[in-house]
Amino acid sequence: MSNLQYDANQLGYNADVIVIGAGLSGLYATRRLIQEGANVLLLEARERVGGRLATSTFNGEIYDIGAHWISTEAQLLRSLLTELSVPLYQQYHAGTSALTIGKRTRQFKQRLPRISPFILLDVHRIHRKLNALVHKLQATNHNFTKILEQTDRLSFGAWLHQECRHATTIHVFEILCKITFFAQPDELSLFYVVDQVNSHNGAANLFSMRPTMNKERVAGGTQRIAELLARQIKQHVITDTPVLAIRQDQESVIAYSRGSSYRARYAILAIPPAVTEQIYFEPTLPAQRDALHQRVVMGRAICATLCFDYPFWRENGKSGIIISHQGPATLVHDVSPAHSTEGALACLISGSDAAHWGAQPKSERLRALVNQLQPWFGDEITAYRGLIERDWSTERWTRGATGFMPNGSASYIQSLALPIGRLHFAGGETATKWTNTMEGALTAGERAAAEVISELMSGGYLRKMMASD
Ligand SMILES: Cc1cc2nc3c(=O)[nH]c(=O)nc-3n(C[C@H](O)[C@H](O)[C@H](O)COP(=O)(O)OP(=O)(O)OC[C@H]3O[C@@H](n4cnc5c(N)ncnc54)[C@H](O)[C@@H]3O)c2cc1C
Repeated sequence: MSNLQYDANQLGYNADVIVIGAGLSGLYATRRLIQEGANVLLLEARERVGGRLATSTFNGEIYDIGAHWISTEAQLLRSLLTELSVPLYQQYHAGTSALTIGKRTRQFKQRLPRISPFILLDVHRIHRKLNALVHKLQATNHNFTKILEQTDRLSFGAWLHQECRHATTIHVFEILCKITFFAQPDELSLFYVVDQVNSHNGAANLFSMRPTMNKERVAGGTQRIAELLARQIKQHVITDTPVLAIRQDQESVIAYSRGSSYRARYAILAIPPAVTEQIYFEPTLPAQRDALHQRVVMGRAICATLCFDYPFWRENGKSGIIISHQGPATLVHDVSPAHSTEGALACLISGSDAAHWGAQPKSERLRALVNQLQPWFGDEITAYRGLIERDWSTERWTRGATGFMPNGSASYIQSLALPIGRLHFAGGETATKWTNTMEGALTAGERAAAEVISELMSGGYLRKMMASD
């Protein structure tokens, strides 16, 4: 007997489609479905839309505390921003930056950190080997399963230890893994990393030695993108409504929140797989799929932004950028508001550092951060006027930064996006291109919306719109 009570006599549907999660992916899927003439409800757990597009304010200025960079390759996102008239500005990187590995801090002004040419060559060699693995997997037919299992059995960390000629190269990739995956190399499946190399059009894109170069930021913060999208479809969005249980049968899907239920023909779950685990499903999800969702581990990230009266480091010829193997922050960069005199430095505490420092009192975390930054920026760093912090692992409706796959399960990654009955899946983690970026979230939303549109059309619930419609 069903544990989920609902009025069996209740005829009719609240909507054609229920979309769960008003992050970028869910918002975009909803808008797409509405454009095709579907009746859609978008249910969001938080009181705000945007999910990992999040901002916070200090002294009237808005700062990103989640996603913040837009790369040149993000075509869908860029055309959406043009349509929404959202201005972008270039990430500040003029001046001297610092790269700390071991006890040594190397200054660099050039586009690449000034490290030994032997290390740079070794990094490029690893890039080439990763690209070659992508081609090998793509080109192999008869040996595919064997190669796939071999690469999924090995962690990226273990592979780096086999392949790198210098210990420093391993440290460089430890830094890059923390920036890209919010995780340590030992936690990642080699197959997963190879899959992500493919998803990001090559190793040099995924593991950029210049993580802040050629990147743009959204004036007013990235959450604005979600707010503008939500404004277009506002009568379809219901916030503060966490979906706690989902029941599906031959005809419908019912989503249960606190004291309310919504019935539709189809549902799109636009939430991280780890968060899907918080929902009670009836019937239960197929065991293999459930196991897969459990294996999408969320990376850990604390975004800490220090706010100052002005960006004093610029006057000292510094870019504000620190890339560090020592921590607590792996990456520090200048996030001073574009049209204001205020200065701000965003510090990304990531991977094992986020796990460690997230468990410490805020005062100790702050002290450790200031101690890290003081030798480079000088005593003025202690004159910060405010601190904005977000530990993504403590966010109930996100449970971490972005999802990655450990060895042993990554070869099932493509199954993450497969529909289960009337349930379809979106979200940045399910994207096959630009996975775990804003661009990926959009493409996944578009793909899931197309799946449901096709179902609605073949069921005769949605007719193809005529030119005159
Ligand atoms: C610290 C950090 C830095 C990043 N930096 C960048 C960057 O610079 N550039 C870039 O492109 N990407 C970046 N990303 C990744 C990017 O933010 C994500 O890929 C993208 O925002 C994911 O969007 P989404 O819609 O798939 O998921 P989310 O944004 O997580 O949206 C899911 C939504 O579902 C809601 N939800 C969850 N459970 C339920 C439920 N049961 N019922 C109802 N609603 C629910 C959540 O509240 C949330 O609003 C970063 C991410 C983080 C965390």
